[in-house]
Amino acid sequence: MERIQADAVLVGAGVMGATLATLLQQLEPGLTVLILERLEQVAAESSAALNNAGTGHGANCELNYTPIGAHGGPNLHKALAINGAYEQSLQFWAALVEQGVLSGPGTFLHQLPHYSLVWGEEEVAALAQRQQHMAALPQFAGMAFSRDHRALWDWLPLVMEGRSAGEVMAATRYGRGTDVDFGALTESLVHWLQRQPGVELRLNHALHKLRRRADGGWRLDVDQGGKRVQVDSPFVFLGAGGGALLLLQRAGVPEARGYAGFPVSGQWLICQTAPLIDRHWGKVYGKAPVGAPPMSMPHLDSRWISGRRGLLFGPYAGFSGKFLKHGSWLDLPASVRPHNLLSMVGVGLRERRLVGYLLQQLGQGPKERLASLRRFLPQARPEDWRLAVAGQRVQIIKQEPGRGAQLKLGTELVATGDGSLAALLGASPGASTAVTIMVDLLRRCFPQRFQSGHWPQRLAQLLPYDPATAGPDSASALAQCRQRCDTILGLREV
Ligand SMILES: Cc1cc2nc3c(=O)[nH]c(=O)nc-3n(C[C@H](O)[C@H](O)[C@H](O)COP(=O)(O)OP(=O)(O)OC[C@H]3O[C@@H](n4cnc5c(N)ncnc54)[C@H](O)[C@@H]3O)c2cc1C
Repeated sequence: MERIQADAVLVGAGVMGATLATLLQQLEPGLTVLILERLEQVAAESSAALNNAGTGHGANCELNYTPIGAHGGPNLHKALAINGAYEQSLQFWAALVEQGVLSGPGTFLHQLPHYSLVWGEEEVAALAQRQQHMAALPQFAGMAFSRDHRALWDWLPLVMEGRSAGEVMAATRYGRGTDVDFGALTESLVHWLQRQPGVELRLNHALHKLRRRADGGWRLDVDQGGKRVQVDSPFVFLGAGGGALLLLQRAGVPEARGYAGFPVSGQWLICQTAPLIDRHWGKVYGKAPVGAPPMSMPHLDSRWISGRRGLLFGPYAGFSGKFLKHGSWLDLPASVRPHNLLSMVGVGLRERRLVGYLLQQLGQGPKERLASLRRFLPQARPEDWRLAVAGQRVQIIKQEPGRGAQLKLGTELVATGDGSLAALLGASPGASTAVTIMVDLLRRCFPQRFQSGHWPQRLAQLLPYDPATAGPDSASALAQCRQRCDTILGLREV
């Protein structure tokens, strides 16, 4: 049996694992890092371009990030946090482009306007109020609102075709939106990582089991096409996407108790008619239907996949027992434990609207899917669109003190008290916030390096603008940061 040792083992070669490995190499080039990936290529699960929506989530126009607050106006707390996290990602990518780690940001990043789109007087009024609050902040300055059909024609001609002049609708437009091919980004990061002396990538290596060693580190049983490989390391990151929950449970750590997972699958309609693709420019977000998980809000997206511009609509949600797109139907039953069974039943009973929504989505055929698309594109024809399967999301169910079992819709970093093991659960806002999440992981798992080492200074070089600590001059600091990133990343409004 082959035996390997590494300073850090990262399980999963998606955008999270690749980001963490790159951060570790930037902070401590001498560390040996082993990346284990069960598939024969990197970024083939949620991080693959077709498996996610490719939104650079700056929380500009995604209505689910600005719920109505107690005062009746939009609550911007979450939107500001996500926006700040995305600025961190842009800064990191800019630093990597400057160093030549990432070549050609145009291979994974494009700027285009983001829109929110609503119908009916009540929603139009709420959107106008949202725009007033947001445009007053430096993060969202320049956001425009209109309910005038002429302006809407100007912004979204394909969306406006075939509508009656009296239809009550409105949109907000924010020019500094982005589309990200997270698959291409991951591949570029891994390409650089493989050229670093301390980094090794092992494809077709699936982590099967892990257990604590007497010295506090971890011993991993890895399956390589039927052959067993044993890996020892003082630090393990379970960046296995939907597979992370099962691995965390197998580690037998108390921090895993009370967590369960609920898989939600997705589908897109993909446009295959070039003139339609050319006539739409932007990412347009509607409102999630009643009972739907917020990330199921429908959107019509200009997308770049492997360098080619396309047009996608969706997602249509569904149910599958798999935790990964290339996973097993037994994933869900395998995740049920005595400590999470009641949480799952409790959430299932309480979230009846979500269950009803998923059943309704499952029952959708081509006719119903076309009807949803026609809400956005009244003149859509079935022959211009084909159906494709998106990635799997595993929503977290968590037992919370005093609140019982809760369905969590965000991402959650779980780490052992000694920082030797960390896992990332959940999927939203996901890839866009990878840098902030991974920096958080480093702070939690390597506190001593932040107290007495050079990591804080090096991080400050990579991420000079920190939205969390920006002082009274934050507007000008943000403007400066954006100008620098835009120049390096080739972002400009078109
Ligand atoms: C439908 C959909 C739309 C989305 N839209 C967006 C969006 O618009 N913007 C955004 O920012 N985010 C979006 N996300 C979320 C985003 O895709 C994820 O947050 C992100 O890709 C997660 O990256 P990851 O590296 O954790 O997981 P993944 O990319 O899934 O990678 C995990 C890797 O681990 C490997 N693995 C699993 N088990 C094992 C094992 N036992 N041993 C070894 N390797 C293993 C897998 O093969 C895989 O390669 C979306 C997700 C979905 C599903």
